[in-house]
Amino acid sequence: MSDPCILCCAITGSVPRKADNPAVPVTVSEQVESSHAAVEAGASIIHAHVRDDDESPSSDPEKFAALKEGLEKHCPGVIIQFSTGGRSGAGKERGGMLPLKPDMASLSVGSNNFPTRVYENPPDLIAWLASEMITHQVTPEIEAFDLSHILHAIAMHKAGKLFGRLYVQFVMGVKNAMPADRAVFDFYVETMKTRAPNAPWCAAGIGANQIVVNEWAIAAGGHTRAGLEDNIRLDRDRLAPSNAALIARAAELCEKYNRPVATPAQARHILGLSTGVV
Ligand SMILES: [Zn+2]
Repeated sequence: MSDPCILCCAITGSVPRKADNPAVPVTVSEQVESSHAAVEAGASIIHAHVRDDDESPSSDPEKFAALKEGLEKHCPGVIIQFSTGGRSGAGKERGGMLPLKPDMASLSVGSNNFPTRVYENPPDLIAWLASEMITHQVTPEIEAFDLSHILHAIAMHKAGKLFGRLYVQFVMGVKNAMPADRAVFDFYVETMKTRAPNAPWCAAGIGANQIVVNEWAIAAGGHTRAGLEDNIRLDRDRLAPSNAALIARAAELCEKYNRPVATPAQARHILGLSTGVV
């Protein structure tokens, strides 16, 4: 049996709406319920954004606090990862929830294009978010939309500017950013192995690439992410009925490649996080 595979569920995101797929959880109670089912299906990390009541993206720390409380109550031990991504707020607003001390937070360390705009991550904002994570002891998950982001994250980690263990996620298939390209994926994996040999890594694919990248990552010994933030469909004809259904697909792939699905406790160990026991 090989190493356990961490499955992260990106439950909501900033983009999909209920009109796109009614299973997208929007209110905090929907998010907690959807997370609970995803954890039952094998997720050990919940990656979350919050929304306003009209479904628009929010960076309201009070909403994040309510979600954290609900997850701690209904999904005990699960790793809580909040997004500091740029679709939910501007500038330092993006890190306004870090004082809540989630286990992890996403961190982008470079800029790139998104489908309809520039995803701006200026150096001073990156440095501020990273330092806030050190202050509040929040382990970042680096969102790498490009090779330069991986190299920059490794350099920041070596310079002591990232809290905790280095954990890089390759994001592939965002329109106008890095496509889900197998040769690039292999080079990313090789880059991690040679330049940060002890660092775990994970990968996420957007849209129809979700299941493709799930399989690449699981087969290559990495960890992976699924969920309605990145993909709302099972295939061309069917919407995904839930976050849990997308996690269950990844869990099936783990079985195919003889990788046990990591429990939250195993995932905490792999990522060097606290035990989560309060
Ligand atoms: Zn996200």
